[in-house]
Amino acid sequence: MDPSRTFFTQAVHAGMEDNPEAHGKPVSVPIHAAVTYTYEKMEDLSAALHENRGYCYARYGSPTVSALERAVAELEGTEDAAAYASGMGALHGAFAQAGITPRRPVLSARNIYGATDVLLRRMFAAQEALHFVEITAEAAWKAAIERLRPAAVFLEIISNPLLKIPEVPEIVRWAHRHDALVIVDNTFATPFLYRPAADGADLILHSATKYFGGHGDVLGGVAAGGAERVRELRFQQRSFGANLGPFEAWTVLRGLRTLPLRMREHCANALQVASWLQRQPMISRVIYPGLPDHPDHGRAARLFRPGCFGGIVSFEIRHAGQPEVFRFMEALRLILTATSLGDVYTLLLYPAQSSHHALGSEERLRQGISDGLLRLSVGIESAEDIIADLDQALRRI
Ligand code: PLP
Repeated sequence: MDPSRTFFTQAVHAGMEDNPEAHGKPVSVPIHAAVTYTYEKMEDLSAALHENRGYCYARYGSPTVSALERAVAELEGTEDAAAYASGMGALHGAFAQAGITPRRPVLSARNIYGATDVLLRRMFAAQEALHFVEITAEAAWKAAIERLRPAAVFLEIISNPLLKIPEVPEIVRWAHRHDALVIVDNTFATPFLYRPAADGADLILHSATKYFGGHGDVLGGVAAGGAERVRELRFQQRSFGANLGPFEAWTVLRGLRTLPLRMREHCANALQVASWLQRQPMISRVIYPGLPDHPDHGRAARLFRPGCFGGIVSFEIRHAGQPEVFRFMEALRLILTATSLGDVYTLLLYPAQSSHHALGSEERLRQGISDGLLRLSVGIESAEDIIADLDQALRRI
């Protein structure tokens, strides 16, 4: 730097001329924290601002976030992806862009994540542009699509918390016949189990907070889909905001590197835990798509990676209401009682208390979510240790 410059100027500009990438190619994607970009030629700045060539301002895109977006697109088998500050940010962006009106409403599966249910009601209920259908009722989907001519249909690949699995290829076929956009939340399955784009889904959404990040230390979301659709989402993001930051993008990207290894363990452990729970007299109901008695087991086996049914197990403690469930939760020593899923740690959530609290008890019961139902996100600890903890806590109810 010019030595005649003052210490004040030095403090602001020192070190800026050194380009670390000139010393070799880094093996992990660098965290590009810059918010704004400078160009020597003003035509290049204009191209970055108006033609999407190069970066200009972080709300319009930035290199570390782009790296994550490319990675998710590749894993989901889509042309592109847009990252968001949270899964809810991605869901909001997708619904806001889907052209939903009272004449062309959104048709959603009924058993969905509680906050998504609330979001849909907030965005569309007042204008009567929202309809629900039972997620696994194929004839009902077909009839509702034909009757309503929705602009979009929405479903979760593994529903929350009842772990129902919809007949995606058929729903996509009916939806596309009537020009409806198919938006799916693939958070629970991840592309390790299932790639909805291969069956024609248009927008694949993720809470990257869950299996993508995998360690309970980052909040993020992603929407993956065709190039044109994602371009529109990015354009919309310029005014909506809700962008993912570079540090978060880097953390999710690091999580993705071990996604298949973690998913393999989650799936194997979940099957062991579910099979054990099924043998316990204190457990009245075990819901896991990997169990042959799960109503959608055959469909899961057909759609998902062979032998993999996800890391979530839901179960009901016999004759239990909130007091018994609370005693059970407080007795756990290894399993963490926390409102998330998809982490390396085993996490237990009580839907009536957290994810589905906002629905109210009447709607919860209507959806089959009783006050004794718990959702276990099985981690990658040893299955024996997870089972031992469940066992000792059940004895202390
Ligand atoms: N979709 C599903 C299936 C979820 O479970 C969650 C959060 O639990 C979300 C979306 C929302 O994601 P986030 O918490 O990252 O906003």
